[in-house]
Formats: sequence, structure tokens, C-alpha cells
Amino acid sequence: MRVRLLAVVCALLVALPVQAQDLGPNVRKMRDGIYVYAAKPQDSNVSFIQTKEGVVMIDTGQTPVDALAAMGILKKLSAQPVRFVIHTEPHDDHTNGDFVFSPPAVVVAHAGATESMRKANAVERNRKLTGEYPGMSEAMKGYRQVLPHIEFQQRMTLNLGERTLELIYLKNVHSEADTAIWLPRERVLWATAAVGVKRYPNIRPFLAVPDILAAIKLMRALDPEVVIAGHGAPGTTAIFDEMERYYALLLERVGRMAREGKTLERIKAELRMPEFDDWAGKERFASNVDAAWRAVKGN
Ligand SMILES: [Zn+2]
Repeated sequence: MRVRLLAVVCALLVALPVQAQDLGPNVRKMRDGIYVYAAKPQDSNVSFIQTKEGVVMIDTGQTPVDALAAMGILKKLSAQPVRFVIHTEPHDDHTNGDFVFSPPAVVVAHAGATESMRKANAVERNRKLTGEYPGMSEAMKGYRQVLPHIEFQQRMTLNLGERTLELIYLKNVHSEADTAIWLPRERVLWATAAVGVKRYPNIRPFLAVPDILAAIKLMRALDPEVVIAGHGAPGTTAIFDEMERYYALLLERVGRMAREGKTLERIKAELRMPEFDDWAGKERFASNVDAAWRAVKGN
């Protein structure tokens, strides 16, 4: 009797698909065959999309250590090769792990990504992170920068197996080449670092708040059920609500202070956003005030 019960339990275990909890505490299953991994809450998200014709990955890890961890997770999920890696952005903390997956993966990014990656000193950044991420020197042994094999303009559709992935360029939201990825059938959207979860954005001088808001509007119009930001826990369109609330308050306050005749320096010193005190990355807030100033001054 006990033997038969054991046989039944074993048969059940074999028949069951891999459960997200078997993949470790930092992996979330979003849909059948769609998983998101981040080693730490504010690290970049790595995503796996399984198809009948192989795996598509979206970004490859905060660091090479993360990329190796992602490879370990992938091996538990699937024996299939990674066919494509899609970059949501060219920055190191999203692209650093490409060398772990490519070859065989073909790396896809928006035009401008290659130039941005060439300019960045990824090796120097990884050296600095050695103390923060145990295992870095080991993980760096196989490191080499992989530049995108394919750069697309504006929009691209990738059909693989039973899935369709729509790649959508978002202008001036975070980097020189930001790509949202939309799975219309599964209603899952990768929203890039145009949005974050409880973190101040880094709004570089060439970016624009009106463009960020337009990108959020465009993404909301897709009507996604799952929204995955560049960094932070996967969620819903509530992520968009929170970002819009933040920008509305920021523009309102900077606008009011500018109308009162205050200088940009004075606004930076005086402006408070207590509603967002629990957000990470306060050192990036000054760049947000700069961007709001440009927006309210119309330049
Ligand atoms: Zn970035």
C-alpha cells in the first residue's frame, strides 16, 4: 500500500509543471511559461518567456552574478536554448549578463543601443560592484560585452512558437534606446525604466517629462493586466497611476515655485515630496527637479 502511494505521489510530482517556489524566492510566475527574476527588490528584472520554439529573455541581470543565477533558474525551467535576448535599455544593469546567453541568443535592441553600450565602461562598473555582489570576480571571468545583433526602429514584431512579442520604442524616457515589450495575447507588458516601483527615476538632461508621460499613456492604452517595470516588483497599471501622481505633483509644485519667481537652485533646496519619502534613490531627485523645470519653462 505504502509503495503504491509513493508511486502515485512520484507520478504526480513528475506530471506537475515547475512551480515558481522551486525556482527560489526571487522568481515570480506571471503566466504559464513567463517568469520574472530579480535578486534584490531594486535590482533590474530578468524575464524568461518560454515558447514552443525556444526561450526569449528580456534583459540579462543587474550584474554578471545575477546573469549566472538567471542561467541556473532557466536550466530548471527549460532544456530549450535562449533564442533571443531583448534589451529594455542599453545600460549595464540590464545588459551585463548577455555573454552568459549569447551565443546562441540573438540580442535585439532599439537603434542607439549599440552606441550607448560602446560608450559605457561596463568593466569599470563591474569592478566597483565587486564588494557589493559576492561572486563578482568569479562571474567576471567569462565576461565580454555583447553588442546588439539587431537594432530596430520604432516598432518590431517577433513571432516565436505560439507567442507574439511587440517591441515598442519609447522616446526620451530613460536612455538612448528604451523598448517596451507587449504580449497582446497574454496581456503582459514590460514597461522599461520609464516607470519604477518606489524609486526616483534618473532623468538625464536629454530626457523630457512630457515624453515620459506620453509613454505611460501609450502603454496604458494597451490595457495590460501585468506591468513589469525595469526595476521593482511586477504589478499592474497601478504602477502607472503612482508615476502619474508623482509627476503631476512634481510639475505642480515646481511650476508654482517658478511662478513665484524662485530660481532653480532655490527650488531644489526647498522642494519637498513627503508623499514619496519611502522611495529609493533620493540622490536622483535633483535630476527630477531639473526635468520638471525644463517642462514648466517649456524648454
Ligand atoms: Zn538604466
